[in-house]
Amino acid sequence: MSQNTRPSLRQLEHHDAFIERHIGPNDAEIAHMLGVVGQPSLEALTDAIVPASIKSAAPLALPSPLTEVEALAKIRAIAGRNQVFRSFIGQGYYGTHTPNVILRNILENPAWYTAYTPYQAEISQGRMEALINFQTLCADLTGMEIANASLLDEGTAAAEAMTLAKRSSKSKSDIFFVSRGVHPQTLELLKTRAEPLGIVLQIGDDSEAAGVDAFGVLLQYPNTYGQISDYAALADAVHARGGLVAVASDLLALTLIAAPGEWGADIVVGNSQRFGVPFGFGGPHAAFMACRDAYKRSMPGRLIGVSVDAEGKPAYRLTLQTREQHIRREKATSNICTAQVLLAVMASMYAVYHGPDGLRRIAARVHRCSAMLAAALRKAGITVGPDFFDTLHVVGVDAEAIHAKAEAARINLRRIDAGSLGISLDETVTREDLVALAALFGADPGDLDALDAATPDALPAGLRRTTPFLQHPVFNTHHSEHELLRYMRALADKDLAMDRTMIPLGSCTMKLNATAEMIPVTWPEFANIHPLAPAAQIRGYKELIDGLEQMLVECTGYDAVSLQPNSGAQGEYAGLLAIRAYHRSRGDAHRDVCLIPESAHGTNPASAQMCGMQVVVTKCDANGNVDVEDIRRAAEKYSERLAAIMITYPSTHGVFEEDVVRICEIVHAHGGQVYTDGANMNALVGVAKPGKWGSDVSHLNLHKTFCIPHGGGGPGVGPCAVKAHLAPFLPGTLGGENPVGMVSAANFGSASILPISWMYVTLMGASGLRKATQVALLNANYIAKRLAPHYETLYTGRNGLVAHECILDLRPLKDATGVSAEDVAKRLIDFGFHAPTLSFPVAGTLMVEPTESESQHELDRFIDAMIEIREEIRAIADGKLDREDNPLKHAPHTATMVCGSEWRHAYPRELAAFPLATLRQQKYWPPVARVDNVYGDKNIMCACIPVDAYKETADA
Ligand SMILES: *Cc1c(COP(=O)(O)O)cnc(C)c1O
Repeated sequence: MSQNTRPSLRQLEHHDAFIERHIGPNDAEIAHMLGVVGQPSLEALTDAIVPASIKSAAPLALPSPLTEVEALAKIRAIAGRNQVFRSFIGQGYYGTHTPNVILRNILENPAWYTAYTPYQAEISQGRMEALINFQTLCADLTGMEIANASLLDEGTAAAEAMTLAKRSSKSKSDIFFVSRGVHPQTLELLKTRAEPLGIVLQIGDDSEAAGVDAFGVLLQYPNTYGQISDYAALADAVHARGGLVAVASDLLALTLIAAPGEWGADIVVGNSQRFGVPFGFGGPHAAFMACRDAYKRSMPGRLIGVSVDAEGKPAYRLTLQTREQHIRREKATSNICTAQVLLAVMASMYAVYHGPDGLRRIAARVHRCSAMLAAALRKAGITVGPDFFDTLHVVGVDAEAIHAKAEAARINLRRIDAGSLGISLDETVTREDLVALAALFGADPGDLDALDAATPDALPAGLRRTTPFLQHPVFNTHHSEHELLRYMRALADKDLAMDRTMIPLGSCTMKLNATAEMIPVTWPEFANIHPLAPAAQIRGYKELIDGLEQMLVECTGYDAVSLQPNSGAQGEYAGLLAIRAYHRSRGDAHRDVCLIPESAHGTNPASAQMCGMQVVVTKCDANGNVDVEDIRRAAEKYSERLAAIMITYPSTHGVFEEDVVRICEIVHAHGGQVYTDGANMNALVGVAKPGKWGSDVSHLNLHKTFCIPHGGGGPGVGPCAVKAHLAPFLPGTLGGENPVGMVSAANFGSASILPISWMYVTLMGASGLRKATQVALLNANYIAKRLAPHYETLYTGRNGLVAHECILDLRPLKDATGVSAEDVAKRLIDFGFHAPTLSFPVAGTLMVEPTESESQHELDRFIDAMIEIREEIRAIADGKLDREDNPLKHAPHTATMVCGSEWRHAYPRELAAFPLATLRQQKYWPPVARVDNVYGDKNIMCACIPVDAYKETADA
């Protein structure tokens, strides 16, 4: 190579390397696709799509992109500024051993973490089986009839229990009685949630509860100080007044103590964190809610149920969807959408691995150690509360002196007050820990085996668990590592996640979750930090959080960001609370009307309702745009009462509306605030900033735009970003003075997954983020353009272009041929694809969002499948395929259907299974045929399927 053509060192260093891995199409493909779309360059495409009135003048003020090696080194240094102490703080969070087989094959496995929410039942059977195991686990241990999968954290679960009790109780009271024994963060959450709804919290000692005329009570069992009390008489008294009994509990304790369902609880909530999910500085973890069967239609969150498929086999599906915000909107029972699926799967696998005997043994060991430590402390003259499982309430000590000694020994204990403290043991406790803990109090446990022999249990005699749990074979089979490994693999193989195919879900932004972004999550310096660890131990987290907040401020044009909300819907709730508190601070408490266009995501009206706002729905015009005149009319009509408008931008119809600035002006003129749902930020980052065009607040979905994987339906992070005037009203922290209070149980919500988004922004830099947005626009337009001869795109914006997603209108085809959007969605499974978003925001359509991460090759594969499906629809129209008996109506086709000795259909087997030649080389076989939705809702069954059910179908 001659000197002149030799590339320089700088060129060879290739700092765009990650950007080119993240963005699917290479430059040649981008050029080709631009040609198809009819645009000379990415810049020209951007100019043609994005209204000039909102475009950012300057590039993002972010550092240049780093390579994977550099970024990992940088975050490694940040992680190193955290200090991992032994944490016996408890208060709802406990040390745990994540079984390594689960760590690597679930938490670190893209087959699990890149999956989407199981709306398409046929390609989600694996994760739904894991989730029904979770539901069975929670229902069994709590002694309840039904459990969901899952809620965001214990505090919000308790708040949901409060509103469930309000809906379900016969009492007309507005009072919810809360025991002083609940965790402090739960109390904070209840305060936040109760006030806008007009619920009056009465906080008191357990003994006072029976005397209060409340619609419900919340108890903690064992309570936050570890004590286990008998609440049977109290439960009877509450019931006698028509109230409901909600209980926050601990799954591990429940293996040894009587289930709340056995002594009268109606609703039980809690956190499954200690079933193998690391502290993670507060999250993510899966909370649960279990309740009596009578309340199932009013229960919040997702519920996996059992139905049958077209072959009559049992099959899982999300059940009772009609309860959810997507359908019920402002009448929804809750705004919860993204939950904590990945963590619920982990907890369920922990239970599958250990089984009932293993769990009992773990619990018994924790209790043994706790009882022994208590005995050692008492022998040294220290007072410890009676009747506990794993938590000792130590009173009458110089707490500061003991905390100082503990710190020197790299141990954290719970701070309660100057004279008392808490010690919570967990399955990680060792004999050495017991000696070290006793020594902090000047005690010496002596010979531990002798102490063991001499120390009785500390569980109250009348409250020992006598009922069995987890008797289903799934919890009694997979106890060797091989068995569990293969069980998890078998489940993962049933599902389609992004490790196998693009998931072109409109509004959900299923983009690459790069391995380098995921790696830091499980480092001990991030994973093993208790959420209440002292500030000196979390300097790394602080740096990470501050840094990420600054990045998001820069990307959005707002002034302040809170990372506390742990889902998009929680971000909405936080943003609306900020608006509400802002109005109140100005003497405008009467502003309670929230305008929401009819095209909005269901969480928008559900969140507004939770803030006590009255939702006024505004229209959309024929082009799918929000109807500005209707907004103007509504803003005028409700001028005095106008609190806010919630709009989504670009619109849920996939269009950059020209009028967004005007809408902001109208709403501001009437004294309202503008909330922009930021779920579509993937069309904006680096191109335009909502905080600069007049919007006051947005939530982001880090699990969409900023690369946190969906985990099969969670975790997520929904930061709330606001302009300066709303900053004082962002969520507060535990124990802090704040006008709004907390919206999540932990100060930084799902802190341990923040490294993912930090890594993404750091790896991409300003240039990469902008290019990602531009290629996201290009990929969507490429699909729309190539499919134009076959499918109509419902809405387009300026220059006939769409934004980052496109809506394919199947309604004309349905009228002509009887083929529905759902048939097309199911037929895509035969081609190995996850369907696009079905019937949102318009019924009878498919919304496709490819994201920038899909290569041209993958886009073409999808387009080929869609064209082939269109040919099948044409064949039906032409009478070449039967109107009823065709591959669309019977899709998806299972191996048992295609290989059965009989084939009764009017089309060939080959067409059923291999509609494209390429499928002969790589074929995904759905484990079940089309799942019957109606049957599942009529015959509600939400626990593990009895093994006999499979036998019957095998015999049949
Ligand atoms: C995903 C989404 C939400 C809700 O986010 P979650 O994290 O699921 O709560 C809200 N609005 C829009 C437009 C969305 O796409």
